[in-house]
Amino acid sequence: MGITVLGATGSIGVSTLDVISRNRDRYHVVALTANKEVDRLAEQCLEHRPRFAVMADEQAAEQLRCRLQATAPDIEVLCGSEALVTAAGLDDVDCVMAGIVGAAGLLPTLEAARKGKPVLLANKEALVMSGELFMRQVRDGHAELLPVDSEHNAVFQCMPDGFVPGSGQPEGVTGILLTASGGPFRTTPLDQLFNITPEQACSHPNWNMGRKISVDSATMMNKGLEVIEACWLFCVPESLVEVVIHPQSVIHSMVQYRDGSVLAQLGNPDMRTPIAHALSWPRRIDAGSEALDMFKIGRLDFEPPDVHRFPCLRLAQEAWRAGGTASTILNAANEVAVEAFLERRLAFPAIPEIIESTLSKMTVRNADSFEVILEDDALARDCANELVGGVEYRRNCS
Ligand code: NAD
Ligand code: MG
Repeated sequence: MGITVLGATGSIGVSTLDVISRNRDRYHVVALTANKEVDRLAEQCLEHRPRFAVMADEQAAEQLRCRLQATAPDIEVLCGSEALVTAAGLDDVDCVMAGIVGAAGLLPTLEAARKGKPVLLANKEALVMSGELFMRQVRDGHAELLPVDSEHNAVFQCMPDGFVPGSGQPEGVTGILLTASGGPFRTTPLDQLFNITPEQACSHPNWNMGRKISVDSATMMNKGLEVIEACWLFCVPESLVEVVIHPQSVIHSMVQYRDGSVLAQLGNPDMRTPIAHALSWPRRIDAGSEALDMFKIGRLDFEPPDVHRFPCLRLAQEAWRAGGTASTILNAANEVAVEAFLERRLAFPAIPEIIESTLSKMTVRNADSFEVILEDDALARDCANELVGGVEYRRNCS
């Protein structure tokens, strides 16, 4: 099976390549893509020998060509967003891992869906920013959408036999319980959140992830985006998606049924498990993850989320209820605010403030074309950037 890994150098990309390495009899890499990490992509190219490697810009592509000239001159190095789209839609690609972070992953992921490739969806932002059109593209392209996000993969595993993501509300399901670790600041005194550094926000207690999703986990915007993701994938109203804080991250999510049954998927917090599941579905392959030891875990705890501590969760739920481009605006403003926080231009508690202000300043429109979605994405970014630059948000966060 030929695979394109979009975002190969990231946390999801590296885990995907690890699973592929363990199952070389089944999978080979056709294309690898990355933003600017030339060294890592060069190493991955030498190990996996794709036909294509794609970098975001010409400068990075030229550096990669130089690196590969002597040892792997047969690998064609391309650059830019059109090349990303090409890599996702190649004829000899049987499956695409959508592992780019943020809105940058939208177009290649859509291309994979348009070409009817199975899409292994990690890039939740693409779905959040354009859910209705994204799901339509999946249906029109007769593509298979396989959730990689650990919670959604868990829910998918607990769904009735034959359930297809995006195909309508599953029979007998009365609720989805999305688990959340609560991130690194679940119990931090609220008055200390002001001084949180990017390093602290990026050290998640259970998962080792990219910087953007780590900050999203710390604000719980990640769970907010995941509520929206669940509504699209599993075709349930938002009122049926409940967030449950479960600090051990052993239960990855649960599905409640009409007869009182609750099905859960458990495992160690290791993304190779949902990646391997999505890659090989409906079969099972070796993921390299450690077997779960219930005695070592000992106990499982649950509590409701603290809505005052985590306003991002409420903002995401409100955006979903508002419909139209509200989720597009939410996602764009969040990407801007998180980047500003990571660059120490914004205090941690100002992230939800920027998002809420952006939402209040913009007019939500019908999300009925990609032009409108991309326009509102750009407008929201401008608006959020302006707010970040505003004096009232420029707090001492160094
Ligand atoms: P990461 O930052 O580690 O990696 C991101 C990848 O995207 C890198 O390969 C980078 O080069 C590429 N990229 C970034 N900007 C780009 C651009 N403008 N153009 C082209 N490529 C670009 O992120 P990650 O943690 O691997 O997360 C990837 C996606 O998977 C995110 O949407 C995240 O929400 C989702 N996800 C991640 C995890 C996890 O455990 N890491 C779990 C669930 C979902
Ligand atoms: Mg998740």
